[in-house]
Amino acid sequence: MSLLGAAAIRELAAALDLKPSKSLGQNFVIDSNICTKIVRIAGVTQDDIALEIGPGLGSLTLALLESAASVIAVEIDHRLATALPLTISRYSEHPENLTVIHADALSLEELHIQPTVLVANLPYNVSVPVLLHLLERFPTLRSGVVMVQAEVADRLAGNPGTKEYGVPSLKAAWWAEVKAAGSVSRSVFWPVPNVDSKLVAFTRRASPGDESLRRKCFAIIDAAFAQRRKMLRSALSSLYGSSAAAEEILIRAGIDPTLRGEALEISSFYSIALSEPDNV
Ligand code: SAM
Repeated sequence: MSLLGAAAIRELAAALDLKPSKSLGQNFVIDSNICTKIVRIAGVTQDDIALEIGPGLGSLTLALLESAASVIAVEIDHRLATALPLTISRYSEHPENLTVIHADALSLEELHIQPTVLVANLPYNVSVPVLLHLLERFPTLRSGVVMVQAEVADRLAGNPGTKEYGVPSLKAAWWAEVKAAGSVSRSVFWPVPNVDSKLVAFTRRASPGDESLRRKCFAIIDAAFAQRRKMLRSALSSLYGSSAAAEEILIRAGIDPTLRGEALEISSFYSIALSEPDNV
């Protein structure tokens, strides 16, 4: 088995006459060390079924095939999805361990085998919705490491009271414990992106409630941050009909109605949802 370096990536791209698409976030990793590092941080073992979103030309896929029992790779670009099995059979000793699915990750509803770990260099323009969608649809995903735009990584791993803290931090926190896992130099990509990248690691937590509680929590989070400078009683007034109604629910939940959403942990959002009257 060998991994893909800059020369191999350029050769594969030239053979496909590939012009990397900005709208699909196509920045390919040309440094195999970073792929090995991502797989190591993710703690992938021979017991794992790895899910990779956006395998592209296969850099990370090859590194994953060295450690996981099998890899499911979901790629939206038809040319890349078609070329990947050929690349993998050329470079990997275990091409049979790879399943390629040509699909939009946002529409992925079912898989024939259940993945245990998510490892991906995510397309930057859809990284948060893809991550949240996968955490919701595939409860067997117990952990993962994803590479995302640095600003997005800071938001996903943000703490209460900071400017990075907001909707992505809270929605991700419903599903998992999320933490920063290091920065990645722009020079490991082709083409070189005009944003910085970071790694984010997550570990799924026990679900705090059922689907109905999750939907309520997510609606409250969206309302609380729609105008993040507003106090909660006013930010939640349209959701609950008036600021008096919002204030009553907040007091019942044991939360000061003059606080802003950015002061609250995810557990406070559960308390608000559980304090709603039945008819909301
Ligand atoms: N994993 C490769 C690497 O590290 O070199 C490529 C990563 S590149 C940042 C993102 C990849 O995601 C591209 O191959 C792109 O075609 C694919 N992609 C973009 N949007 C997607 C979507 N909605 N579903 C699945 N794949 C997508």
